[in-house]
Amino acid sequence: MYPKKDSSNNACAVGVLEDKSILFRYTLFYHHFITMFLLKGIFSLCLLGLIHSLNVHLVCHTHDDVGWLVTVDQYYYSAVQYIIDSVVIALDQNPDRRFIYVEIAYFWRWWNQQTDEIRQKVKGFVNEGKIRSALFNKVFCLNIGRLEFISGGWCMNDEAATHYSSIIDQHSLGAAFLHEQFGECGRPKIGWQIDPFGHSREVASLFAQVSFLFHL
Ligand SMILES: [Zn+2]
Repeated sequence: MYPKKDSSNNACAVGVLEDKSILFRYTLFYHHFITMFLLKGIFSLCLLGLIHSLNVHLVCHTHDDVGWLVTVDQYYYSAVQYIIDSVVIALDQNPDRRFIYVEIAYFWRWWNQQTDEIRQKVKGFVNEGKIRSALFNKVFCLNIGRLEFISGGWCMNDEAATHYSSIIDQHSLGAAFLHEQFGECGRPKIGWQIDPFGHSREVASLFAQVSFLFHL
């Protein structure tokens, strides 16, 4: 599932990306023209709030460390599997609810334990914004589904100590899984780095080059 890399062309991150990693090929089409449609779809879903009032937006999301104080297995069996279970139930109960999921290492493990019925339900949550363009004969996701994947790496990588090739590899692994299971609507559109102990310009550059629309 890892992207093929040209060992003679890995002097910089740009060189690796231009080697057509799956993440790069997957997102290249969205530059410029398509980006504007996605932005329109995203902002059309935002409640603008009340003028002269303090408007608070609550974003329901995950930050499930893929191993930290305890092991990956301990986190998964003690907490993460129940988080995903309860999210699916909550989304099913109310179509106005939204959730964003990040760490594909855990989601992949959970996914492999689900029945076809649950998988189809989750695919429906993700694909709610899907349309097919007759002009391009291509699927677009102009609106965000009930469940959205953001960042979409195997984990949320550290930005200081991690080599860029590992960052590309682990995001490619997650993106390949999402594309395989959810198609276009599984494509992450937002970089989500909420616990990296400081940001690096290299990560911002990489995320821009894979066409993430925003980076938090
Ligand atoms: Zn953390």
